[in-house]
Amino acid sequence: MRRLYWALILVGVLAVGVFAGLVIAKRLREDRWAMPDGDDMVRLRDVFRPAAPRPPRVIYLHRGALEVARGDGGSSQNQSAIVGSAKARYPLRGFTGKDAAWKELTSCVRKLFSPFDVEVTTERPRADGYVLVAFASKASDIGITQRRVGGLAPYDSAGGVVPDPVVFAFSGTLGNRTRVICETIGMEVAHVYGLDHAYLCSDVMTYLPACGARSFRDRDARCGEKRARDCSYGAPTQNSYQRLLSVLGPARAAAAPR
Ligand SMILES: [Zn+2]
Repeated sequence: MRRLYWALILVGVLAVGVFAGLVIAKRLREDRWAMPDGDDMVRLRDVFRPAAPRPPRVIYLHRGALEVARGDGGSSQNQSAIVGSAKARYPLRGFTGKDAAWKELTSCVRKLFSPFDVEVTTERPRADGYVLVAFASKASDIGITQRRVGGLAPYDSAGGVVPDPVVFAFSGTLGNRTRVICETIGMEVAHVYGLDHAYLCSDVMTYLPACGARSFRDRDARCGEKRARDCSYGAPTQNSYQRLLSVLGPARAAAAPR
C-alpha cells in the first residue's frame, strides 16, 4: 500500500515536470518567452514587413499630447503594433518638461545621431516613413503592465529595419532626467535600425550601469544585457557606430547657408 502511494506521487511529479517542459518548449518555439523584466524590445516575428525596407531618415520628436492606437498604420497614423490590446486607444500626455528641458533634449538627440544621414526634427514630416518618438510617463500608459522599462521599441531580431515605427520614451520612469531620456531615445530609435543591446557601459545601447555620457561607440563589443552574449542577428559582436553607419550612411555635409 505504502509503495503504491509513493509510486503515485512519483508519477504525479513526473507528469508535472513533463507538462512544464512542454509549455516552456512551446513558448520558446513561439517566441512568447519574454524576459521577466526590463526588456525594452518587442520582437516582431509575425508582422509582415517588406524584405529590405528603406530606413526611416527622419526622427520626429512629438512633444505634445498624443493618442496612440494599436494597429499596423505606422507612425503617420499614430499606430503601433507594440502597445497593449486592453484598450483601443491610449491618450498620452506628451513631454511634460519645460521649454529649456525640451531644447536640451532635442539638441542632445540631434548630437547622438549627428554622425549619420538622418534628420532629427520637432515638426511632423508630411511624407510617411519616419520614426515617431512619443512621450508617456510610464509603460502602463500604453497598456504594458508586465515590464518596468524606460522606453519601448519594435525590434526585428534578425537585425532588419522597421520602416515607420513608433517608439516610446517613459519620462516618469526615467526620473524626468533629460540626459537619460535622450540616451533612452537613442537606444529605442537604434533598435528600429536593427541594433541589439551592447555589453559596453559607454554605449547608448547598453543596459550596464552608467560610466559617463553615452554615445554610439566605434568599438566592437559583445551584445547582451546583464551578461555578454552573441547578438540576436547572429554576429558575435556589434559595433554600434559602424552598424548605424552601414544602415544610414554618413551625415551629409551641412547645406550652404542661404
Ligand atoms: Zn533596448
